[in-house]
Amino acid sequence: MKQPISQPELDISVVLPVYNEAGNLKTFIPELSIALQALGRSYEIIAVNDGSTDDSLDVLRALKQREPHLRIVQFRRNFGQTAGFAAGFDLARGTYVITMDADGQNDPADIPKLLKLMEEGGYDIVSGWRVERKEPFLSRRLPSLLANHLIGRATGVTLHDYGCSLKIYHWEVAKHVQLYGELHRFIPALASSMGVRVAEVPVNDRPRRYGKSKYNLSKTIRVILDLITVFFLLTYMGRPMQLFGLAGLVSGGVGFLLGLYLTLFKLFTGADIGNRPLLSLAILLIILGVQFLMMGLLGELMIRTYFEVQDKAIYVVRSEE
Ligand code: UDP
Ligand code: MG
Repeated sequence: MKQPISQPELDISVVLPVYNEAGNLKTFIPELSIALQALGRSYEIIAVNDGSTDDSLDVLRALKQREPHLRIVQFRRNFGQTAGFAAGFDLARGTYVITMDADGQNDPADIPKLLKLMEEGGYDIVSGWRVERKEPFLSRRLPSLLANHLIGRATGVTLHDYGCSLKIYHWEVAKHVQLYGELHRFIPALASSMGVRVAEVPVNDRPRRYGKSKYNLSKTIRVILDLITVFFLLTYMGRPMQLFGLAGLVSGGVGFLLGLYLTLFKLFTGADIGNRPLLSLAILLIILGVQFLMMGLLGELMIRTYFEVQDKAIYVVRSEE
């Protein structure tokens, strides 16, 4: 980041995306308050009301009477959990930014454990790991097992449980990551591009008390698409020509060789090549090759615009001595 970010004013910011959680908030916010007060640090709770259609807002307002550290951020419509995290990160004033689900599935009693490791180990991210996850195996746990493995392989940041919302981020990380779409599950992976130290701690997983999960199987498909995006962002975003250019060269090269073979065949045997499927393939591969090369060039142009328009540095400094 080239622009200096203002300094944190508090110790802890807890970010809670809220979408129709009226029933859960009533018990969860007081439980969270007690856990935070016991830490003896300055804190704030940022509840991002993501266009709830139930009376979550009224519940939050009533809770604020008793918990002055509660900040209520009201979205104009439902933007999704990732947007909730992003808003919380932007507004957070704490040195440590803690993300949690507002449905009570994450246990506030785990916070001291995560915080301790964060401070003593000097980590940038400490992630919760739901060792005994309560959700169904086939629809939820199996897809996330696969996703965790793939993200780990692609990014070098191996976590058992990317999907666990309970995580602590050092303030610099929270302010630095750019979140889009459904990418909140991949924050540690995205942050790996700035070079972060990540640790993992087993945490409690509790069943949801009221309401239903906002996600279903379609989420699995979206997560897979996000995974492809994250993989690209982390590997070739800074050098798209090396990915597309390689594909272009291979495709174009094979097409050229096939065309050459057919031409020589025609010249030496005089046979007809107009009806050969191989000819179509050769033409297809050459056109594809040109397309890939153009895509690589366009990518290079876009990445320059990306860094220059935002005045973004291509590096991140940890400290200077
Ligand atoms: N959430 C949100 N916006 C949405 C969907 C979910 O803010 O569009 C919040 C939701 O209120 C909860 C958290 O994100 O605090 C996780 O959602 P949920 O419990 O439905 O997901 P699951 O735990 O089943 O993965
Ligand atoms: Mg939940």
